[in-house]
Amino acid sequence: YSKEAHLIKDDVSDGSKSFKGHDMLAPFTAGWQTTDANPLVIDKSEGCYVYDADGKKYIDSLAGLWCTALGGNEPRLVEAAMKQLNSLPFYHSFWNRTTKPSLDLAKDLLEMFTANKMEKAFFTNGGSDANDTQVKLVWYYYNALGKPEKKKFIARNKSYHGSTLISASLSGLPPMHNNFDLPAPFVLHTDCPHYWRFHLEGESEEDFATRLAKNLEELILKEGPETIAAFIAEPVMGAGGVIPPPATYFDKIQAVVKKYDILFIADEVICAFGRLGTMFGCDKYNIKPDLVTLAKALSSAYMPIGAVLVSPQINEVIYSQSNKLGTFSHGFTYSGHPVACAVAIEALKIYKERDIPGHVSSMAPRFQDGLKAFSDSPIIGEIRGTGFILGTEFADNKSPNTPFPAEWGKLANFVAGVGAYFGAECQKLGMLVRIAGDIIMMSPPLIMGTEHIDEIISKYEKALRATEERVKELKSK
Ligand code: PMP
Repeated sequence: YSKEAHLIKDDVSDGSKSFKGHDMLAPFTAGWQTTDANPLVIDKSEGCYVYDADGKKYIDSLAGLWCTALGGNEPRLVEAAMKQLNSLPFYHSFWNRTTKPSLDLAKDLLEMFTANKMEKAFFTNGGSDANDTQVKLVWYYYNALGKPEKKKFIARNKSYHGSTLISASLSGLPPMHNNFDLPAPFVLHTDCPHYWRFHLEGESEEDFATRLAKNLEELILKEGPETIAAFIAEPVMGAGGVIPPPATYFDKIQAVVKKYDILFIADEVICAFGRLGTMFGCDKYNIKPDLVTLAKALSSAYMPIGAVLVSPQINEVIYSQSNKLGTFSHGFTYSGHPVACAVAIEALKIYKERDIPGHVSSMAPRFQDGLKAFSDSPIIGEIRGTGFILGTEFADNKSPNTPFPAEWGKLANFVAGVGAYFGAECQKLGMLVRIAGDIIMMSPPLIMGTEHIDEIISKYEKALRATEERVKELKSK
C-alpha cells in the first residue's frame, strides 16, 4: 500500500517526509489524515474517469459522491453554466424577486415528477439543507392547521439524510450522532429494512416487511399518533450500505403512515434521475410522497443545488397562511441560484433526451449480474443493489452475525474491516469505490457503457482475489 493508497497511518508515523498533511479540516475524514497523510487529490475528470494530481486514471465507480450522473465533462452543462455566468451570475429569489432559470427549473421539476402531484419547488444548496427545509415546512404546516403537537419525525436506522443538525438527526448512523449531542429529541428511528441482516429464521421478505410495518405502527401508537408529523425514507438506502427495500415494504409502510395522518417525505437525493432505472425512486416502488428531497444529480453535481417538492395540500396551507403571517420566512441567499438552475435545467433535458433511466435499466443486468456473480466468494456476505447502485458486504462465514475481527481493519488502519483492504486494492488498480467498514458501495455515472461495466467487474475481481488471499493469510496466523 504505502503511499499510493493514502490510507495508512502506520506508513505515516514512520517519519516519512513525503507525508505532509494539509490545511483543510476535511469532511468525513479522520483528524490524523488531514495532519499526517497526503490526501488523494483529484485534478481532472473525463466521462466515467477521474485523474489524480499525478495523472493516474481511475474509473469513478461512485460518480463523485453518487452525483456526477452525466460524468466528468459534459459540454452542454459547461456551456449552460458559462452562458448564465455571462448574462446573470447571481440574483436572489427573496421578496418575490427572482430569476428566469429558477422559475423554469421549478416548472420542469414539477412536470417531471409524476409519482404524485406536486405543486411547488423550493430550492436549496444541497440535500442537507433541503431536509432541514422539510422539517421546517412540516412544522409550519401543522402549526398552521392548529396541530402544534404534531412535531416528531420518524426516520430509519442506517438512513442518511445529511449532515446539518437536523438532517444528521434524521440520519440513522451512530457516527453522525456520537460526540455531536445528536439526534435532536424530536427524531425517532425505526427499523432498517435490510432483509439479509435483520430477517428472522424462515421469514420471507414479505413477512419481514409486514413485521417492520407492524413495528412502525407500534412505535406510532406508543408515542401517540397525534405527535408524529412525518416519516422520511430513501427509496433505496444509500450511504447506510446500499439497501434496496424488501418486497412489499413501501406498500405496507405507506399504509401505516397514511392511517395515522403522517406525512411521507421521499429523500430522492441519490435515487432520482435514473439511478434505479426509473426517473425517480418513487416510480420504482410506487411511493406517493407529500414532500420530495432532491439534490446531487439534479445538476449532475456540476453546481451545488437541492430542491424540495411540495404537495398541493401543503402548499395550500402556506398560501392561506400568508394572509395571517405575511412572508414564508425561510430561505437561503443561494435558493434558486441562477447558474445552478441553468445547469440543472440542461441536466434534466439530457436525462429526458437520452432516456437515461432507460439506459440504466437496459445496462443494469450486466452491472448487477456481473458483480453479483462474486457472491459465492468465501469472504462476501452479500452483494445487493438495483439499477446503477450496488453494495458489497464482507463477512466471515458469509453470515451477518460474524463480521471479520475489528482489528483486521488495521490492514489499512482506517476503518475496521477488510473492506478497507479491498478499497485500497481497488484504488491501486485504478478504481475508486466508497469504503464504509466492511461495506463497499458503488454508484457509477449513469452514462456508463458496457466497456466501463466490464472494467469495473475486472478490477473488482482482481481486488477481491487479493483480499481473499489476505484474509486467508490472516486466518492462518
Ligand atoms: N439525503 C441523502 C439520501 C443523501 O445521500 C445525501 C448525501 N449523501 C444527503 C441527503 C445530503 O446531501 P448533501 O450532502 O448535498 O447535503
